[in-house]
Order: sequence, then C-alpha cells, then structure tokens
Amino acid sequence: MRIITDVDEFRAWSESARCEGRRVGLVPTMGALHEGHLSLIGEAVRRADAVAVSVFVNPAQFAPGEDYETYPRDLERDAALAGEHGADVVFAPPPGAMYPEGESTRVTVEGVSEGLCARTRPHFFGGVALVVTKLLVLARPHVAVFGEKDRQQLAVIRRLGKDLLLDCEIAGHPTVREEDGLAMSSRNVYLTQAERAQAPGLYRGLLDLKRRLEEGERDAAELLAGLEDFYAREVPDGEIDYLELVDPETMRPVERVDGEAVAAVAVRLGRARLIDNIVVSW
Ligand code: AMP
Repeated sequence: MRIITDVDEFRAWSESARCEGRRVGLVPTMGALHEGHLSLIGEAVRRADAVAVSVFVNPAQFAPGEDYETYPRDLERDAALAGEHGADVVFAPPPGAMYPEGESTRVTVEGVSEGLCARTRPHFFGGVALVVTKLLVLARPHVAVFGEKDRQQLAVIRRLGKDLLLDCEIAGHPTVREEDGLAMSSRNVYLTQAERAQAPGLYRGLLDLKRRLEEGERDAAELLAGLEDFYAREVPDGEIDYLELVDPETMRPVERVDGEAVAAVAVRLGRARLIDNIVVSW
C-alpha cells in the first residue's frame, strides 16, 4: 500500500489519475479504522476508479482538553486495511503540512454548523470545514464519501460543497453498527465494560422514538420527552448532551414531524461522548 505524506505528491497522484481518465474518490478519516470506515472505502471503490483514504487526526477540530493527544493512532494497520478494501493510496500528512507556519485561513459554514454538536463543541465544525476544504482542493476528487453517523457533519460538508462551487459529489453512507446496535466509532474503545453494556441503549431509544412516531405521536417535544425517559431507564450512567428532532438539510429543530426529520442524540458515557441518529418520517 502506498502511503503518501507529502501534499505535492498527493496532488500529483490525483492529477495523474484524472489525466488517465479515472474517477477519483476520497474517503477522509482520522484513522483507527473500523468497519464503518471500511464500508465507506467500499462505497468509494464502487463509485470511483482511483481511491484515496486520508488518515489525519485534525488538530483544528479538537479543543484544548479534548483527546487530540490520546486519539488512537496506528497508520501501518490503517494502511493495510485500506489496501485490503481496495484503496489505492493512503494520504497521511504531518500536521505541519496541512497547517503551514503562519496559517490563518478559516472556513465557516453558517446555519447548519450551529446547534446540536456545536453547542458543546463550538470549535468543531470550523475545524472540520477547514480540513475538508483543504483535502477537496488538494485531491479534487469526483466523489468524496462521508458517514451518515456524523449527520450534521455531512450536512455541513454538503453545504460547503455547494457554496464553494466544488465539482465534487458528496456521498453519504449508512451507519455501520455492532451486532447489538451500537454505532461503530473509534472512540468506543474509551468505554468501560459497564458503559459498553449500556451504550446500545442509545440506538434502541431512537428505534423506540421511531415506533412511537409510527403509532401516531408527531409532536417533537412529546417524542423527545419519551426518549429522555427511555435513556433514564436504559442508559442510567449517560449524561445527555442533546436529544433533538431536526430538519435533515438545515439541522434546525422541528416542532412536529411532517415528512422527514432526523432524530439526533449525543450522550456522554464516562470518557466517551457517543453520537447517533436515525431518519424518521411521517
Ligand atoms: P472519523 O475517522 O471518525 O473522523 O470518521 C471518518 C468518516 O467515517 C466520517 O465520514 C464518519 O462519518 C465515518 N464513520 C465513522 N463511524 C462510522 C460508522 N459507524 N458507520 C459509517 N460511517 C462512519
């Protein structure tokens, strides 16, 4: 597996793939690859002929005191897995290559970057938008694949792609779950055994909300109050960050489910902050 660490070399790789008439696909990740990431790579391989996986723990999306230093890193293993799943190159730049000395450019996606995760992590989407812009400008992929697990992130990147007139399809891919329903995440390794046992309750609560909607309850406040009760029972050690029903495109809260909505949750369980969401519709 070819590992590229230099930005000029990465640009040249993608330029030459494009010149050969190949469709370029990009899967941005922070590494510590799991089945969720691998299914994104599979999707990119189906949609493109030359696939790059970026592995970059992006300092700009971590606030002081978050887990930037301790975030799991294993480039050799990630590169081997990416190769086994059909990627052509792994792009793993050092932070200094992505953030040159004196860097001061920021990318703000207003509206959709507000609320939900931004409330407790106000730095987060600015950091994501900045690094994804850099990656898309460098690789100029025909398609970039992102997980629906990070639904607000996907909405931010879709908005960014439209607004910056980037000629790149932003493809969303469904959340991959453990057998018991827990959404896979590189941060699940932070869970203790007792926390891990409660964690699947997050998804079960979302399914319970969906069932109550299908039974006729369409009022967002009622649906969310029921979800809060569910978590109090089933995820007793969880500390709720947010429980919301939002519009899938704008990420603004809805008062009543009419058409499609996203039920999105963030819950702290010990050292881990777990997020999950499902699309519900009336
Ligand atoms: P990360 O390495 O956590 O920044 O994630 C890189 C990409 O993988 C993002 O587009 C995530 O949405 C996606 N991803 C993370 N976990 C999952 C999962 N369980 N299922 C599908 N995609 C995921």
